[in-house]
Order: sequence, then structure tokens, then C-alpha cells
Amino acid sequence: MGIKGSSTRQVFFMDCKVPVENVLGEIGKGHLIAFNILNIGRAKLAAAALGGSKQVCTQSVEYANTREQFKLPISKFGAIKHKLAEQAIRIFAIESAIYRVSGLIENKEEEMMADGKSFESALLGAAEEYAVECAILKVAGSEVLDFVVDEGVQIYGGYGYSADFPMDRAYSDSRINRIFEGTNEINRLLAVDMILKRAMKGELDLMGPAMSVQKELMGIPDFGNGNNKLFEEETKVVANMKKAILMIAGTAVQKYMMTLAKEQELLMRIADMAIDTYMAESILLRVQKLVATKGEEACALQIDMTSTYVNDMVDRLNVNGKNAINAMCEGDEQRMLLMGLKRFSKMAPVNTIAARRRIAKAMIEANKYPF
Ligand SMILES: Cc1cc2nc3c(=O)[nH]c(=O)nc-3n(C[C@H](O)[C@H](O)[C@H](O)COP(=O)(O)OP(=O)(O)OC[C@H]3O[C@@H](n4cnc5c(N)ncnc54)[C@H](O)[C@@H]3O)c2cc1C
Repeated sequence: MGIKGSSTRQVFFMDCKVPVENVLGEIGKGHLIAFNILNIGRAKLAAAALGGSKQVCTQSVEYANTREQFKLPISKFGAIKHKLAEQAIRIFAIESAIYRVSGLIENKEEEMMADGKSFESALLGAAEEYAVECAILKVAGSEVLDFVVDEGVQIYGGYGYSADFPMDRAYSDSRINRIFEGTNEINRLLAVDMILKRAMKGELDLMGPAMSVQKELMGIPDFGNGNNKLFEEETKVVANMKKAILMIAGTAVQKYMMTLAKEQELLMRIADMAIDTYMAESILLRVQKLVATKGEEACALQIDMTSTYVNDMVDRLNVNGKNAINAMCEGDEQRMLLMGLKRFSKMAPVNTIAARRRIAKAMIEANKYPF
């Protein structure tokens, strides 16, 4: 065992002997435990990032309400309202995804324990089942925290850069989350790789839905029915985002086959499309449930958050999709896929500025993150 220079605070174990009674699990199978621990670790990292994000968001609102410029609290300025609302929207979205994945893991764990598994192996088994979701949470959670903290620094202005105020510490603490528990690049690659491996093993049907999307592309587009029922548009958009992923990932698999792993830029775009879609679906599912229990009026701001978030995610999906298609194909195939992407990333207009103003107003009045 060697200890490297203390300034790096790293400990290396080399040829280290472990007494037999201290061996955990089976010799040679430690990586299985380690990998599954990582899944739980990734979900927990997202939950910790959520807690940090909420705290920073509250500090941002409090500061914006007290700091005056041009004889007004800076929370009165639209530029600051936008930042506060966007902090809240992204926090609410990642919280929705965390609730969703935690519920899925808990249900699976109970199912496995009912089948006779011990608590420990049920926990690891359930986390393995939702390993893709855990990777998604890790990436999304750490990036929400980074965004929220970065905007927190900006709202504090020069004081954001000073160690006498809280944002300086938050900025440095937040950054590690994108690096440990598997860097966000590795988690993005892993998420896509796990989905494709499950499809190849026949555990996940990707080909069936991908073929249906191909067929749909040949047909007449859906022009909508002009119906404004609550969440009808968002539900359609999220379903179409999934079709766009199937279309692009399906093309990537066909084009590159066994060499797809080398096309990392493409895999990153596909991972981002999957993450944005999962997050958009999570906020939508949560707010649908909320409205069902509390009613539409009580959930007006959560509805604003949902339509604004889905609007932004589908635009991001469009950009990622375009970059992926343009890297993979040319000519007629490129035109057809770009047309398909346009069809699958359409959304009725949302006045996101008005929605963010309403969300910020509630935050400023509550003087905290209130959702
Ligand atoms: C404060 C702190 C606490 C930590 N705690 C723990 C701990 O408790 N347990 C533990 O096991 N580890 C811990 N780590 C280690 C941490 O998990 C690693 O730093 C992290 O996994 C990245 O590895 P690396 O530093 O070797 O970076 P590298 O692997 O050298 O990565 C450098 C860059 O290259 C990218 N990269 C690397 N490989 C690829 C690839 N194949 N494809 C594309 N991009 C790639 C990375 O995404 C990154 O951007 C900790 C690190 C820090 C800083």
C-alpha cells in the first residue's frame, strides 16, 4: 500500500493483503457489488444536488429581494426574475425525476423481497434494473446544481465571487458532482450503451417502436385537433420526443453497427436527447398527478413550469437531433430525417416570458424556493 503526496489527499492500494474475515462478498465478484453501489450512489448524488439547489435558490431570492440598484430591489428586474424562475423550473424538474426513479426502485425492491431476496440483494437488484435512470439522474442532477449555483453567483454580482458570501463556496462545492460517481461524459455514454445492450439481449423492444416510427414518417403528419385540453400538447410532445430518439438512435445503430461506440459525439447527442425527454416526461407525470389531487387552479404555477420546461426541452432535442442527423447522413436520407425531426419536435407556442414572470412573482413574495 502506498500513500501519494499528502497535498493530493489520494490513497492508493497496491498488492494490499486483506484478512479473510474482512472479505466482503465473493472474491473476483467485487466489481458487481461496486457497479451496483454506483447506481445507488448516482441516485443519491442527484438527491443531494437537489437539496443544495433548493438552498442556493432560496439564498438567491433572499439576496435579490434585499440588494438594491437604481433604487429598486434587483428582484424587480426582468433579467433577475428570469434567472430565479429558471432555477425553480429546473429544480422542480429534477425533483420530479428523483421521485419517479425512487418510486420505481422502491417498488422493484419490494417485489424482489416478496420473491425471497434479502434486503441487500433486493436493493442492489432494483438499482441495477434502473441503472439507466440512475445515470440520467446523476447527469441531470449535477448539471441542475451547477446551473442554479452559477446563476446564484450572478445574482449576487461581485459578492458572488467573494468568500465572505455563500455563493463562492457553493460554486466550488457544486463542481465536483459532474466529476465523481462516474464523470458526466462516462454516465452519458453508459446510459446509451446500457439501453442498446438491453435491446440486443431482447430485454427491451427498440426495433418494434423504431419500425413504427419509420412507417409514421411515410404517412401524413398529425396537424393536431386544435383541442386545448390541459397537458394534451405536452403529452403529444413528449411522445414525439421519444419517436425522434428512436429515429436517430435507430439510424445510428444501422449506420455504425459495431463501431458505434467510437462515435462518442453522436452518442452524447443521443444521451442528451434521452435525458431531456426523461426529465420532460417526469415533470409532466408529476404535475398531472398534482392537478388530479389539488385541482388546476392550485397548480397554476406548476402547470407553467411544465409547459415552459417541455417547450425548452423539445427545442434542445431539435438542436441535438439536427447535429446527429447532419453527422450521419446526406442527400435524400438527410432531408427525410430532418423533416421527421421537425415533425417530432413541434410544439404549440408557449409564452415562456409571461410564465417565468408568474413563477418568479411567487418566489419573490415567498422570499424562498416555494414549490
Ligand atoms: C473530491 C473527490 C472525491 C472523490 N471520491 C471518490 C470516492 O469516494 N471513491 C472513488 O472511487 N473515487 C472518488 N473520486 C475519484 C473520481 O471518481 C474520479 O476523479 C473520476 O471518476 C474521474 O476520473 P479521473 O479523475 O481519473 O479523470 P479521467 O478519467 O482522467 O477523466 C478526465 C476527462 O476525460 C474524460 N474521459 C475519460 N475517459 C473517457 C472516455 N472513455 N470517453 C470519453 N471521455 C472520457 C472524463 O469524462 C473527464 O472529462 C473522487 C474525486 C474527487 C475529486
